[in-house]
Amino acid sequence: MKVIIVGAGIGGASAGIALSRLGHEVVIHDQMLENKPVGAALSLWSNGVKVLNWLGLGNEVAAIGGRMDQMAYLDGRSGETLCRFSLEPVTLQTGQRPYVVARADLQALLMERFGMDRIRLGSRLVAIADDGHVVTATFADGSTDTADLLIGADGARSVARDHVTRADEGGIRIERTHAGYTNFNGLIPIDEAIGPADTWTTYVAEGKRCAVMPVAGDRFYFFVDIPQPPGLPYDRAEGKRPLEEAFGHWAAGARRLVDVIDPSASLNRVEIYDVDPFHTWVRGRVAILGDAAHNTSPDIGQGACSALEDSFALAITLASSSLSVEDSLLRYQQIRSPRAADLVLRARKRCRETHGFDPAVTEAWYESLRQEDGTGIIKGIVGNIVDSPINLGVGTLEHVLAMRRV
Ligand SMILES: Cc1cc2nc3c(=O)[nH]c(=O)nc-3n(C[C@H](O)[C@H](O)[C@H](O)COP(=O)(O)OP(=O)(O)OC[C@H]3O[C@@H](n4cnc5c(N)ncnc54)[C@H](O)[C@@H]3O)c2cc1C
Repeated sequence: MKVIIVGAGIGGASAGIALSRLGHEVVIHDQMLENKPVGAALSLWSNGVKVLNWLGLGNEVAAIGGRMDQMAYLDGRSGETLCRFSLEPVTLQTGQRPYVVARADLQALLMERFGMDRIRLGSRLVAIADDGHVVTATFADGSTDTADLLIGADGARSVARDHVTRADEGGIRIERTHAGYTNFNGLIPIDEAIGPADTWTTYVAEGKRCAVMPVAGDRFYFFVDIPQPPGLPYDRAEGKRPLEEAFGHWAAGARRLVDVIDPSASLNRVEIYDVDPFHTWVRGRVAILGDAAHNTSPDIGQGACSALEDSFALAITLASSSLSVEDSLLRYQQIRSPRAADLVLRARKRCRETHGFDPAVTEAWYESLRQEDGTGIIKGIVGNIVDSPINLGVGTLEHVLAMRRV
């Protein structure tokens, strides 16, 4: 079967690898001109890593992944440690160590494994037509491509999503919701004045947070949240001025983090949005995947992991059901949309709890951190992972390939 995937992000590239391994002829189109991901790094929790293991990338991901052995929360103003504990129970309970990876490393790994010669860069989707037998994608330069199946992995502002939800035909147009804060992130050298090299360290106060996680190559991934409305003016020439204003009066470790940021080397500013869960992910021979289907705020570090779960579920349904492409896609939607919705809502709940939108709620959260021995936080992290479809289907793709070889 010929498959067009639109979008070479984590969702599209992982789906491309999975469907290629099933023997489909896959081509990826992406509007970008070169691999230059927005955002510095991301945490891959056990569910995401397991999908990458299943795709045959386990060793490579372990090589680019930073090891997070401990987790600590500190009071942002005083620097007092609120709690510190081992993350080993997450690994033991889920069967896989989480990793923090630089986005550029993960993206390059996925694109190279899929095959750069099958990725058409500078190819921006503008329209989709599906006559029930063949899907035709039209691109901004007027070119077209046809396939038996089209996967829209074209991110939060998806064109494929508008096709699937019939946005221009009286259906639903999915709008994003601002999460109430701006995130700054980047990479810095490991600096133990901020936190130990093996620890996810987070300073919290005033509804704000600044955090570091270890990434391979002796680097910290830093991410900083400042509650504020969308659309505030910011010029890149301002560099880290908003961070100096927000954290200049904080404890030494947090100030050190701001001090060592080199805006010319690595500083991204992202206004955070999510989307209300919706359950129409499929129309005929077209399906959406990743942020196109479930744009999730980063508050539980699950958006990309959820995209990886999509790739797994899509491959499993296409491999295991045989009525029609349309039927398999509906089964994919049925497996994935409730689970992805749950993660969107979990992230939103955590966003509201931690960003001071209701100061009493956030103060109660800070107080709970003082009582924390790790049990409650680990329960929450494992709770995000435990219902992943990857926990049910490991080995299925290998089984299908083995059957083909007989
Ligand atoms: C600050 C921040 C921190 C995050 N941290 C984490 C984390 O720690 N863990 C985690 O799991 N998730 C995290 N996420 C979420 C994660 O980044 C996303 O869920 C994930 O990158 C989505 O991947 P995707 O492939 O669906 O979309 P994208 O990465 O957005 O890729 C979409 C691709 O489609 C292309 N495209 C778009 N429109 C078109 C078009 N019309 N035609 C052709 N190509 C097109 C784009 O160029 C792009 O390459 C975070 C998000 C943010 C904003």
